[in-house]
Amino acid sequence: MVKSINQLRPKFTTHADGSDAVLYIHELVGEQDGPTIGISAAIHGNENTGSQAILELYRLLKDVPLKGRILLLPVANPYAFAVNERYSTIDKVDLNRQFPGNPKGTYSQQLAHAMTEHYLNVIDVHIDLHSGTDRPTVDYVYIWNDERLSRAFGSKLLYRPVENKQGTVFGGTTKSVTIDTRNIPVAVIELGGGIVDQGPYLKRTVDGVLNMLKTLGAIPGDPWTNPQQIVVNELAGIRPSQGGWLEPLAPANGEIIKGGELLGRVVSPYTFETLEEIPTPFENGVMIMQHLTRNLVHSGDYGFMVGNLEGATD
Ligand SMILES: [Zn+2]
Repeated sequence: MVKSINQLRPKFTTHADGSDAVLYIHELVGEQDGPTIGISAAIHGNENTGSQAILELYRLLKDVPLKGRILLLPVANPYAFAVNERYSTIDKVDLNRQFPGNPKGTYSQQLAHAMTEHYLNVIDVHIDLHSGTDRPTVDYVYIWNDERLSRAFGSKLLYRPVENKQGTVFGGTTKSVTIDTRNIPVAVIELGGGIVDQGPYLKRTVDGVLNMLKTLGAIPGDPWTNPQQIVVNELAGIRPSQGGWLEPLAPANGEIIKGGELLGRVVSPYTFETLEEIPTPFENGVMIMQHLTRNLVHSGDYGFMVGNLEGATD
């Protein structure tokens, strides 16, 4: 049992329709002392698989003995979430590039500042849930500063980014607060999305986060033995350069793709011409993100991600 559940609603500004702009945080307080673990989702408003998982986690965790405290932030970016867009329609900037935020800045900068004050600065561990959108489906976990925690989610594929010298590749993300300023353990999950049943991804997200909480000692139970995992250091994002039907040809996420194989092709819905064939970028690659159905894409949309198995480790 948790000792108490509190609904925290810090207000940070007023919307033009007169309503309060607040962060919706659920605070689960355990009977015993321990670290505060933050679990958040939908910082990109069109990545809602994690939000659904947090609803399921809330229903489960409220009846489980808890050590420490959990802060659930199921919808980090409500205005973007409501319209299924990556960015808020108010200022159309990436919330996850605005941290630590600015209380005198644009709406997303104010939101980032409120998240920093009321969430990122008060947690001791951050589990950040991202997903594909209603188009591509993704499946990997970032390794930032706590490999054990990242591995405990149980995904087969993990990615350890090699930052450039200035360290600006992911400038302004939540980790500019959590890692660069505070150096707390962080795991960023990428799982789900696409025009397919999200049920299996939801279940994996819930099970994975529960295993992370066991690994952290926040809830009882022995963590599982992780499946065999692959850590890649290089990830390529491939965007179709033509608009049209994107027809998938790639193997499933987590499967090997060899040089010369096609990820997919773009076919004109109008003339039926093949406008583009999209080859895999590596001799020896592994699928990380793709479209699982024939989707209409714009030129330059998110297409595929492939990990380079050259230099990958267990
Ligand atoms: Zn995201």
